[in-house]
Amino acid sequence: MPEGSTSRRSIVRTVDAVVVGAGFGGLYMLHRLRDLGLSVQGIEAGEGVGGTWYWNRYPGARCDLPSLAYSYNFSEDLRREWRWSERYSPQSEILRYADHVADRFDLKPLIAFGARVTHAAFDDDAGVWTLETDRGDRIVARWCVMATGCLSIPQKPTLPGEETFKGTIYHTAAWPHEQVELGGLSVGVIGTGSSGIQSIPVIAEAARRVTVFQRTPNFSVPSRNGPLSDAEIAEFRAAYPEYLETLRNSPGLVGAAEGAPIPSEAEQQQAYERLWGAGGPSLIAAFPNLFTSVEVNDGASEFVRRKIAEVVDDPAVAAVLQPHDHPIGTKRICVDSDYYQTYNRPNVELVDLRRTPIEAITPTGLRTTEREYSLDVLVFATGFDAISGALLAIDIRGSGGARLKDAWANGPLAYLGMTVAGFPNLFTITGPGSPSVLSNMIPAIEQHVDWIADCIGYMREKGYRRIAGEPSAQAAWMAHVQAVADSSLFPRANSWYVGANIPGKPRLFTTYIGAGYRAKCDEVAARGYEGFVLA
Ligand SMILES: Cc1cc2nc3c(=O)[nH]c(=O)nc-3n(C[C@H](O)[C@H](O)[C@H](O)COP(=O)(O)OP(=O)(O)OC[C@H]3O[C@@H](n4cnc5c(N)ncnc54)[C@H](O)[C@@H]3O)c2cc1C
Repeated sequence: MPEGSTSRRSIVRTVDAVVVGAGFGGLYMLHRLRDLGLSVQGIEAGEGVGGTWYWNRYPGARCDLPSLAYSYNFSEDLRREWRWSERYSPQSEILRYADHVADRFDLKPLIAFGARVTHAAFDDDAGVWTLETDRGDRIVARWCVMATGCLSIPQKPTLPGEETFKGTIYHTAAWPHEQVELGGLSVGVIGTGSSGIQSIPVIAEAARRVTVFQRTPNFSVPSRNGPLSDAEIAEFRAAYPEYLETLRNSPGLVGAAEGAPIPSEAEQQQAYERLWGAGGPSLIAAFPNLFTSVEVNDGASEFVRRKIAEVVDDPAVAAVLQPHDHPIGTKRICVDSDYYQTYNRPNVELVDLRRTPIEAITPTGLRTTEREYSLDVLVFATGFDAISGALLAIDIRGSGGARLKDAWANGPLAYLGMTVAGFPNLFTITGPGSPSVLSNMIPAIEQHVDWIADCIGYMREKGYRRIAGEPSAQAAWMAHVQAVADSSLFPRANSWYVGANIPGKPRLFTTYIGAGYRAKCDEVAARGYEGFVLA
C-alpha cells in the first residue's frame, strides 16, 4: 500500500468532526479534536501527510522562513526532539517532519488518504455536514474543518499545442515522487515566482541547457542558507519566550507603520546592506513603513535592483531581471540560493516574454513571437489558485443549499478568516480575512486550530449544536481587512494575493496585514463568540 496507512476502500461514517486536508493544519486539528474526546475523520487527497511538502517536490524546494521558526510550537517535547539540519530546510526534511508529527501523535489512522472531497453539504434539519469524495466515501459530521491549504491548487496556463509536445511536462507543485533525471537534457522553465526561483539554479546544475521563460520578474533576496549550528539553535531557544510574544502581539506587516519616521537614505542603505548580507526575507521588514510609504519602498526596491545589476554579468540580462512593475514585497518576496548568479552560467538563457510572448508549444519545444526553442522537458512553475482556490474547488453548500461559489462570486468573505456566514459549523484554517500567507504559516495555523478547537469545546460544554457567523460581523471584518490593505501598497501589484494570476478571478486583497489579529480573535471568544449566532 502507498504512503498513507488507511485502506483504499471507501468509507461511510458518522463522526463528530471531519477535517479535510492533512498538511500542517489538518494534522494539528485532528490532534486537538481527538484530545477533546471527539470522534474524528481526516480526508486527504494525497497518499501521505505534509500537504505543501508532500506535493511540491521540485528541485530546490525549501521553506523561505527560517526552519526554527517554521515549526510547530504546540508541543515542547516535539520542539526539543526535532533538529533541523539547515537554516532553510529542504522539502524532503520538512516532509519528514510532518511525517514524524503524524506518527508521534498517532494521527495517520484517523486519515483516509487518496480521497478528494468533491461535495460538502449542510443539512439544516439535522445540523450536520455530509461530505463526499471522488472515491465514494461519505462522511457525516456535525463540524467540518477545511484545512485544504492556501496554495494547494496548482495553476497552469493553457498554451496552444501543448498536446503535441513530445517531451515531458512537469508542474512544480505536482512533481513526481521518483527522481527526475535532467542530465543532458534541454529544459524550459515557465514562471519566475518562488518555485521557479528556487528550482532554476538546481535545474541548471543538472541540465545541459535551461531556458527560462519570464513574464514578470520578481524580487528575490539571498537566503545565505547553510547548515544550522548548535549555537544558532541555542540562540533561538534562549530567545524563545520573546519569539512567542512577537507571534502573539504581531503588528502585522503594516500595523506599526502609522507615525513611523521616514528613515534617511544612509539609514536605509545601512539596513539593507546588513540584511542582504545576513540573508532571508527580513530585508522587507527593515522599516515599519516599507509597505505603506512609496518613498521607503522605492529605496528598498532600488537597492535590490542594484544588487541584481551587480550580480548578473550581462547588463542586458540584469535589466530583464530587474522588477519595475510592483513595489518590493507586494508580490511574495522570493528567497533564493544563487538565483541571479545562475544567469552567469553558459547553459542558462533568459527569454523575456513581455517582449516576445509565447505563441505555442510545438512537438519539439516552445515557440515565441521571435523564435523556437528546442526542449526535452518543460517545467511549469506557474503557482496556484491561491487562498480561495481549494475551497471553491469543492461544491460547498451551506444553509438552505446556498453555494459557496455564489457567496464568493465577488471575492471571498469570511469572518476572521475562520468561518463563513451562511455556512454553519464550517471552519476554514487560514482562510480569507486572516494573516495566513503574509505570516509565518505554521504558527498562524496553530492559532486557528486552537481557536476552532476551543470554540467546539465551548459549544459542547454549553450544549450548543450550531454556530453561524453573522453577516454583519463578517461584513464589518472584511471592510476592516480591506481598509488596512488599502492603506498599504499591496493592492498595487498584480499578485496572486489579489487573484491576478487566475483569469476571471475577482480582484480582491483578502489577507489581513494589520495589528491585533490574535487579540481580536481572543476577544470574540471571550465575549461568548461575539458576531456569531449559537443555537
Ligand atoms: C513551495 C512552497 C513553499 C512554502 N514555503 C513557506 C514558508 O517558508 N513559510 C510559510 O509560512 N509558508 C510557506 N508556504 C505556505 C504553505 O502552504 C504553508 O506554510 C503550510 O504548509 C500550509 O499548510 P496547510 O495544512 O494549511 O495546507 P497544505 O499544506 O496546502 O495542505 C492542504 C492539504 O489539503 C489537501 N486537500 C485540498 N483540497 C482537498 C480536497 N478537496 N479533498 C481532500 N484533500 C484536499 C491537499 O492535498 C493538501 O495536502 C509555502 C508554500 C509552497 C507551495
